[in-house]
Amino acid sequence: MSHMSATSDTTHPTVDLERAETAVRELLQALGQDTARDGILDTPARVARMWAELLQGYQEDPASHLTRTFEIEHDEMVLVRDINFTSMCEHHLLPFTGVVHIAYLPGTTGKFTGLSKLARLVEGYARRLQVQETLTSQIADAMNSMLEPVGVLVVVEAEHMCMSIRGVRTPGARTITTAVRGIYRTDSTARAEVMSFIRDQK
Ligand code: ZN
Repeated sequence: MSHMSATSDTTHPTVDLERAETAVRELLQALGQDTARDGILDTPARVARMWAELLQGYQEDPASHLTRTFEIEHDEMVLVRDINFTSMCEHHLLPFTGVVHIAYLPGTTGKFTGLSKLARLVEGYARRLQVQETLTSQIADAMNSMLEPVGVLVVVEAEHMCMSIRGVRTPGARTITTAVRGIYRTDSTARAEVMSFIRDQK
């Protein structure tokens, strides 16, 4: 039904650890490193396992964490702030880390989800090769299709290692992205109210 778009992107790719290990060893050698040296002898295998862990989000459908919802008598906005995440920038293979804020206005169906489910949802999309904009809209789309709310607003604030340790080198700079669905798209007063909650309660 309506949540197909949020669930159909999962491909469950196979991870070939041995091949990844060989590739990391090759990369180190290409960078002039002596891979027989004690300190980095086990690094290729270690890095291969690490990448499998960092990309574990491909092995699941994050939206499925929202399958089990509960209904309560509440028709006001719900805001969950500061859900921590780490993701991997697909352009540089370096981490970007930060927080996600998720606000939603339950629909007439009154579907709610718990904090731990939201954290798993974020984690499932974060543990992939990502760009921040995509991460933000994937979370919003999953919320939108699974909870069928009146509106969803997702804000992601993150620091990108590829910006702080290389290139222009701007440590501490935070990139902010938003994804807005439903009423928060059209009703600027409702949107401004949510944004003020997100900003003011630091
Ligand atoms: Zn990057």
